[in-house]
Amino acid sequence: MKTRQCTCGTSVSHEMTGREALEREACPSCGKDVLFSSFIRMDVAMSEYCNLTCQMCRRPSEAIFMDKEICKRGLTEAREVGVETISFSGGEPFVHPAIYEILDYHTEKSYPAMSDAMGHFRDGLAKYRKSDFAGARALFGRVLAINPDDKAAQLYVGRCDQLTESPPPEDWGGVWVMEHK
Ligand code: SF4
Repeated sequence: MKTRQCTCGTSVSHEMTGREALEREACPSCGKDVLFSSFIRMDVAMSEYCNLTCQMCRRPSEAIFMDKEICKRGLTEAREVGVETISFSGGEPFVHPAIYEILDYHTEKSYPAMSDAMGHFRDGLAKYRKSDFAGARALFGRVLAINPDDKAAQLYVGRCDQLTESPPPEDWGGVWVMEHK
């Protein structure tokens, strides 16, 4: 049994066997469908088209891409039902004309005040590239105050701490050298 909250505020429960891809339960108060899934991972095939030509591949020659609005709706629903990991595949997903728009897609619910957070992140990045690690860390911290799950801000807070402890040379160009995977 899984319980989720309808947008009207009512708790809605649904019997689960553990293998459901997507099921609907009508809210007893407002009648709206509430979605349930047992899945925590989802793969989105953006297109079967690919810009490479591996001989063994059955890729189509015609470039047909998933409609971006359908894809965004799927992402929203996946987040709502508790999918934790989403991967994008193809063909080659990066030949999709709207791939960056789709990867950046959030709603006010999935990332509240995202434009404020992006402003802090952009300013933080500018300070980071000028080696102002304390100033950058403060701005990345503001991003995390808005969304503690923001992975990019978490990453840069860690880098700021490391670079404060072991400062780079004066002619540092802002490039982070990976020393391990
Ligand atoms: S989809 Fe994969 S196997 Fe097929 S052509 Fe592209 S890279 Fe090669």
